[in-house]
Amino acid sequence: MKTVSIVVSAYNEEGNIEKLYQELKKELNKVKNVSFEILFVNDGSKDKTFEKIEKLLQKDERVKMVNLKRNFGHEIAMTAGMDYAKGDAVIFMDADLQHPPVYIPQMVEEWLKGSEIVLTKRVDNVATSWFYKLCAKTFYFILNLLSETKIPASMPDFRLIDRKYVDFLKGFNEQDRLFRGLLSWIMPNDKVMVIDFIAPERFSGHTKYNFIKSLQLAIDSITQFSVRPLHLATWFGFAGAACSILLGVWVIFEHFVQHNPTPGYATIVSVVGFVGAVQLITLGIIGEYIGKIHIEVKKRPLYLADLIEGKDKDDVK
Ligand code: UDP
Ligand code: MG
Repeated sequence: MKTVSIVVSAYNEEGNIEKLYQELKKELNKVKNVSFEILFVNDGSKDKTFEKIEKLLQKDERVKMVNLKRNFGHEIAMTAGMDYAKGDAVIFMDADLQHPPVYIPQMVEEWLKGSEIVLTKRVDNVATSWFYKLCAKTFYFILNLLSETKIPASMPDFRLIDRKYVDFLKGFNEQDRLFRGLLSWIMPNDKVMVIDFIAPERFSGHTKYNFIKSLQLAIDSITQFSVRPLHLATWFGFAGAACSILLGVWVIFEHFVQHNPTPGYATIVSVVGFVGAVQLITLGIIGEYIGKIHIEVKKRPLYLADLIEGKDKDDVK
């Protein structure tokens, strides 16, 4: 019998674990001839998430926990889940019920029919404001403008991936990782299925992404998949030089032809200010990349984790 692993990353989700488990149980019972492994990744939660998952381990042998020793972030939590998952396919989902388990039977069915990657497309997100939606649209527009690897908007990490691609994804060792991007990078032309869904509000708790975290994710995403900003930096340099030359020509023109010279200090201040700004932007962009190299060359392990399984397997119902 084929097995599907469900990887759920959870950071401070104590209010969602039980509800998610109940919903998962209901949906998984509808799928015949496939066994499931429910792998919760506790990403160093500071609330009672660990205890809530531990309770489930005792009563359902399908439940396991990858317990990260501290908070490593969502992308690394998903990586840890993927590393420990044993299934012939892996489904990734959030713990807050914004990725509704009700779609799982359909995802599995598509996989059994031959799809190797089943993606979900969020046709609406009832939880987010128009401002957040606008920010997200702008983020993906700029990302795709600057990145060689195109990452579609509205496609969350809620997806099923066949073992073949899971093993392939495990070969990516970078510290700095965006799953959506890595998957876009390997996306085959065939055997990919997309299911539409509407994301409900979070069942309990608050989002872990504030504006600054989202902005950092945007910068990380761009630098991971593109060196275009470095080319852009060169073009800034050229543009700065061209503006300075034009200004120089204008000053000479004013002096010799119009006999109405602009006071020297005004020109100097504007040129110095402009060139300074261009240099700072350029250095900043280069710095972003050097920072990434600095982190990547150390090749540190991605995370520190334990696998915790149910103790009393005989009690399983
Ligand atoms: N998450 C995680 N580690 C983190 C931050 C978030 O494992 O450092 C999990 C979180 O518990 C949730 C999922 O990642 O299951 C998505 O996070 P969230 O719901 O806060 O993001 P949003 O849906 O608001 O984009
Ligand atoms: Mg969420």
